[in-house]
Amino acid sequence: MRIGVLALQGDFREHLNVVSSLGETAVPVRREAELAEVDGLIIPGGESSVMDKLSRTFGLAEPLKAAIAAGLPVYGTCAGLIMLADRILDGMAGQQTLGGLDVAVRRNAFGSQRDSFEEDLSVPALPGDTVHAVFIRAPVVESVGKRATPLGTLADGRVVAVEQGDLLGTSFHPEMTNDYRFHEYFLGKVRARTT
Ligand code: GLN
Repeated sequence: MRIGVLALQGDFREHLNVVSSLGETAVPVRREAELAEVDGLIIPGGESSVMDKLSRTFGLAEPLKAAIAAGLPVYGTCAGLIMLADRILDGMAGQQTLGGLDVAVRRNAFGSQRDSFEEDLSVPALPGDTVHAVFIRAPVVESVGKRATPLGTLADGRVVAVEQGDLLGTSFHPEMTNDYRFHEYFLGKVRARTT
């Protein structure tokens, strides 16, 4: 399998390392031709408003939307989740998303008082124990539409992990921990399509 990581901005190197460490080919994606060659794509954390601008400037936004519509498996973490959301709350003026996930996501939902924090989440879809989740200026999934399914919630019930078919999104950053079960879960989706 060939897994792309959108490499316009943000912590794409960490995701490339995780995918390689799991034994799959990892390639940075900056151009339409590179996107066309991958079986699955990860959109990293970073700053969604910058990623939005760069993807439109480099002519990648439309090919990305078309690939998502055509069923490309995509996993978005943090800013990447924002990029995948159909609806964005508290975006920068004019900020657009690629869409795909039937959710509304609130950007920087935890405010400056709780800029970053860590919490153990129970994620029934994953094997094993709770997931230690690292949140950094994280978004929250404010509402989940009919087509999407919540996978994980904070203790207060707020949704921070969702899926919809071959699309997966987390508010937090598994690539910053040593627990790659979300990456494995995503690779399972890609594998199921390619074999
Ligand atoms: N606050 C960032 C945004 O709006 C996301 C932060 C992150 O990806 N760690 O895109």
